[in-house]
Formats: sequence, C-alpha cells, structure tokens
Amino acid sequence: MATMATVNPATGEVLARFDEISDREVDARLSRAREAFRAWRQRPFAERAAVMHRAAEMLDGRKEHWGRTMTLEMGKTLQSAIAETEKCAWVCRYYAENAERFLADEEVKASATRSFVHFLPLGAVLAVMPWNFPFWQVFRFAAPALMAGNVGLLKHASNVPQCALAIEEVFRLAGFPEGCFQTLLIGSSRVSRVIEDERIVAVTLTGSEPAGASVASTAARVIKKAVLELGGSDPFVVMPSANLELAVKTAVTARTINNGQSCIAAKRFIVHDAVYDRFEWELVERMRALKVGDPMDRATDVGPLATASELEKLVQQVAAAVKDGARALTGGKPSGGKGYYYPPTVLAGIPRSSPSYRDEIFGPVAALYRVKSLDEAIEVANDVPFGLGSSVWTNDQAERRRFIDDLEAGATFVNAMVASDPRLPFGGVKRSGFGRELAREGIREFVNVKTIVVQDDTAQPSKAGAATE
Ligand code: NAP
Repeated sequence: MATMATVNPATGEVLARFDEISDREVDARLSRAREAFRAWRQRPFAERAAVMHRAAEMLDGRKEHWGRTMTLEMGKTLQSAIAETEKCAWVCRYYAENAERFLADEEVKASATRSFVHFLPLGAVLAVMPWNFPFWQVFRFAAPALMAGNVGLLKHASNVPQCALAIEEVFRLAGFPEGCFQTLLIGSSRVSRVIEDERIVAVTLTGSEPAGASVASTAARVIKKAVLELGGSDPFVVMPSANLELAVKTAVTARTINNGQSCIAAKRFIVHDAVYDRFEWELVERMRALKVGDPMDRATDVGPLATASELEKLVQQVAAAVKDGARALTGGKPSGGKGYYYPPTVLAGIPRSSPSYRDEIFGPVAALYRVKSLDEAIEVANDVPFGLGSSVWTNDQAERRRFIDDLEAGATFVNAMVASDPRLPFGGVKRSGFGRELAREGIREFVNVKTIVVQDDTAQPSKAGAATE
C-alpha cells in the first residue's frame, strides 16, 4: 500500500508516515456515508446547528494545537494557522446560524394554488482539497454541506495527512453522527473511482487546473455535479488617485500571505505610470525588509514553501522569467540551506511572451507592470487565463465603475485586499473554475432545488402551458 508523509517544510525532515487506506476500507466508508445520510437528512436544522456550534467550539478551544498541525505539515506561520482555525470556527457558526434561512422554502406566484421552491440535500459529496489552507478549504465546504443535510468525504492533499485526520477528529469530537464526515487517505490516482461510485452524488475540488479538469471530466462522464475552485493570478491595480502608502503596504501583505501560496494572493501589480516609480521603490524596500524564517517563530513574516517540488517549480519559473527579460529587483534566487525557503522577490516587466507572464506564480514573488492608462490597466489585468479575485486602488468613482464592470474576475475589491468571508460568495470565472462557495450561493451548490406545485382540486386547472416541457 502506498504511503503518505508529513514532511516539515522548515527542515525537510520526515515526521510521520501514513498508509493509504485499502479499496475495501474506501468501500466501507462510502457505505457508512450512505447510511449516515439517510438519518442526517432527517435531522431538523436546530439539531444540525447544535453539533456545528460544537465543532466551532472544538476549533476555538484547541486552536493552538490545530495550528501547530498545519504549520508542521505545510509551513504556514503559526500565527496565521491559528487565525485560520478561528476562521473555520466562524464559518461553522455562520452556517449553524443561517443555513435554515438560506434553505427556507421560497414562495413563487405562478398559476397553481401554491408554487414554491424547496431545497433538499443530495447525499454524499466528495471534497478534493489542497494543502495551502489545509483547514479552511475543507471547512468552507463542510460547514454548508453538512448544514444542508449532506454528508462529506474528504480526499485531502497527500502532503497534509495529519490535517486530514485532524479535521475528521474535530467533527467526531463535536458529536456528528458516525459517517457524516470521513477522511479518505488515498492518492489522486484513486479519485476517479470514488467519483464514479454510485454512493457519491457530487464532487468539489479546490486545487490546480489539471486536477480540476480531471475531476470535472470524470464527474461529467457519470453526470454528477462538480464545483471547481482553481488557481488565480490576481491583479492588484494602482491608479494615481490611490492612497499609495496604504496600497503598497497592503500589496506586500496581499502577495506574501500564506508564504505567497494563496489562490487569491495579489500576484500581478499593475501600476499607473504617474505613481509607478514610487510604488516600485516602496514595494522593493518592504519586500526586502520581511523576516523570513521558522514558521513557529511569532516574529516570522514569511515561512518556507510547502514542499520541495513547490520550491523547485518556483525556482524554475523565476529563472525562466529573468531569462526572458524580467528584472529581479530583490530576491530571485533560493536562499539555500535546510528547508524550502524562497526570499520575497520582486520581478519587473515580465515580457508577454514569457510563460511566467500568464502562469500562476505560487510563492512570495511579485510581478510588476507599468501601464499608461485605465484602459491599458484593464487590458493587462484581464490578459491571463484566470479570473479569481482582483484588487483595485483608486478614489475616482468613474474608474471604480470601470473596474467593477470590466475586470474578468469572481471578485473586485476596491481599496482593499481580496479575502474570503463566509458572508460573501467566493469563486472564479475563466480557468479559475465554476460554482461558488460561502454565503447563500455556497450552501445552494449541493442541494436539489425542487419545484413544488400544489393545486387544490377545487381550484381551476393550471394555466401553465401543458404542451411545453
Ligand atoms: P493540486 O495539486 O491540484 O492538488 C489539489 C488536490 O487535488 C489534492 O488533494 C490532490 O491530491 C488532488 N489531485 C491532484 N491531481 C489530481 C487528479 N488528476 N485527479 C484527482 N485529484 C487530483 O493543487 P495544490 O498544489 O494542492 O494547490 C495549489 C493550487 O490550488 C493552486 O493552483 C491554487 O491557486 C489552487 N487553489 C485554489 C483555491 C480557490 O479557492 N480557487 C484555493 C486554494 C488553492 P494529491 O495531493 O494526492 O496529488
């Protein structure tokens, strides 16, 4: 049986190994999920909410413990891992409090005595998740899915097996019935068979484009719903009217959050000519001043990348961009030594012909572009295959309107950094995927939107066209 390992990215040391579960065990878990669904779907919202609130308490109560698990496996700073645990507690509480309202019957005035839309859970949903926010990505799926009455199965990234098991433990400790949320320790080559299994009704994937394409095509073959949250290369546009001080300070945070490994990190800094030189100088100074080091140390700003292969990929991407004509204004080469560290880097003027212009750069590397007008800013911002988030800095109302209407992205934040929030829908367009998580939209992804038409037999026959579908 293949194994998975916890490798500490700060040292490269193997801390633990785990066997993948057998096909027989996968089968047993799928059956358990189906059984659990039969009972769970009948539970009133108030009962589901009570255990979801307890999950929030489990997270808050042991946030340092769960935080350390994340930091040891994927290298995010302990501070940010603790904050991630708190955010997971928030999303649990948010759906515990709002799910019933989001899924309440919706009356519609039509021809029958009564017509309404009724929302029903679907069944067992498979979640294929990435390592970068190893708790948050899972909870933002699980909280709405479970509150809707579905049950969940998690196939987590192979480098975070302890996080995967820890999340299962959170739900168990909270008192969710057996089978409501289970982890499958399996590699990605075994995902298709799980999707094809009749006990799975739908799949959600957060991860890279190739993984998304593979999962969605398998789901399409067996006619199952899929939600995809994929990569991004978010623009961060700075116009002359912006508060430059705040913009540049935020730019650094937005690029280096999670050691630069966030789908919604600002990756491309598109700056108007009138303020470009000052922005560039300040960005370089601030990136250079960041403290890179042990993610367990509270003074650290930027920890290591998650894996040796992520580091290798980043080294190659930056080298290729420089070879193609970009200038490294700071950083640009790995620090060497133990651990998967890469210094905060600023690249200016990656040429359009370079693959690094279009590809997602997953690490603390900011790409700077100078533009001469609003039109050019929008053109450059949209000139990538992705469309996840976008951040624009301007105090000009007309410019704001243009960005809101013309940026090809699932979100536009004005004078603020892109961040997910349980109260707001989250997702992308173009190759960043389809479907939405969070808010009302998120909980409605995995439900049967059932049309109910009730005709009193004393009333007149419906006027709805009988001859149409
Ligand atoms: P990844 O390599 O695509 O892995 C994500 C998950 O998919 C893992 O569980 C992985 O399992 C699995 N997987 C990989 N290839 C698969 C395949 N062919 N079939 C089925 N499953 C497969 O992505 P990652 O490196 O972990 O995460 C980084 C990417 O995720 C970035 O592109 C980032 O932008 C994106 N992301 C997007 C969002 C969003 O909300 N839009 C949020 C976070 C991250 P194994 O680990 O076993 O290979």
